[in-house]
Amino acid sequence: MHSMYNIDEVNRMKNMYDQCNICPRGCGIDRKNAVGICRSGPKAVISRVSRHMYEEPAICGARGAGTVFFSGCNLGCIFCQNSMISQRIVGKEFDENELAELFLTVAASGVSSLDLVTPTHFTPSIAAALSMVKDKLGIPVVWNSGGYESRESLALLHGLVDVYLPDFKYYSPEISAKYSHAADYRERAEEALAFMYDMLGEVRFDSHGMMKKGIIVRHLVLPGQRKDSIACLRRLAEILPIKGIRLSLMSQYTPDFYRGEDKNLLRRLTTFEYESVRAEALRLGFEGYMQAPSSASAEYTPDFCDTFSIDLS
Ligand code: SF4
Repeated sequence: MHSMYNIDEVNRMKNMYDQCNICPRGCGIDRKNAVGICRSGPKAVISRVSRHMYEEPAICGARGAGTVFFSGCNLGCIFCQNSMISQRIVGKEFDENELAELFLTVAASGVSSLDLVTPTHFTPSIAAALSMVKDKLGIPVVWNSGGYESRESLALLHGLVDVYLPDFKYYSPEISAKYSHAADYRERAEEALAFMYDMLGEVRFDSHGMMKKGIIVRHLVLPGQRKDSIACLRRLAEILPIKGIRLSLMSQYTPDFYRGEDKNLLRRLTTFEYESVRAEALRLGFEGYMQAPSSASAEYTPDFCDTFSIDLS
């Protein structure tokens, strides 16, 4: 397969796993012999590939998003709804060529987009694979990440990703430290989001309302944290042109996956909490997707199992 990156560049990218600083954790370990916070080795591991109908309409369309769920995560949020696969490495290993073949298979199934979920810790492998097949996919490539990413790694994706779908999770360092063990989350996410905007510019849609290019920033309102959510939105409005992006304000936190003792995380979000954050989003002028709290259900979380599965029907 022809690649946008030449063989030396691909090898240099693979060498990034030898002393891994791919994300802001900066573990500095050799992923062949040790594991960092993402628990991942030097080969991409995928847990599940499926057609998913519950992503934002502009990437989902009528045909669904072709979701590729990578195993492991560089954030490890204590309330993670995908902890079956984010906090354990389960699934099947793929090298760059196998990943490229898989991406072609997903695109050929008729889905509306190729939706790469929690991809950050495998950025070099994914960039190498995308560079081989990007021009054959014919659908937008979506980078569906936690937002805790480095500019150096994101730069590898230039010209390969059409839509960034990052989270912007926390304002306060205390909360990000408590919930995601990352006191510098906001700083790093701000840099990442600004860089994504530099690469893609303002949102563009096709005649069917599908996003062709741009950024959708996701924010999940957590129980007990509405003030932090409002601070996040205000900050986002300072760092990015509001009309140049879309906001996906999510309410579906469910305590079903949380096993700790944080009282807030043991309950659902109230209507008041969500509505007060949504009112601020509207006041600031954001456009996008703002779910009603009735969607707070575990049914929106895919079933994961210990073995790799693919079902694009
Ligand atoms: S990608 Fe994983 S090993 Fe590398 S710096 Fe991030 S958490 Fe550490």
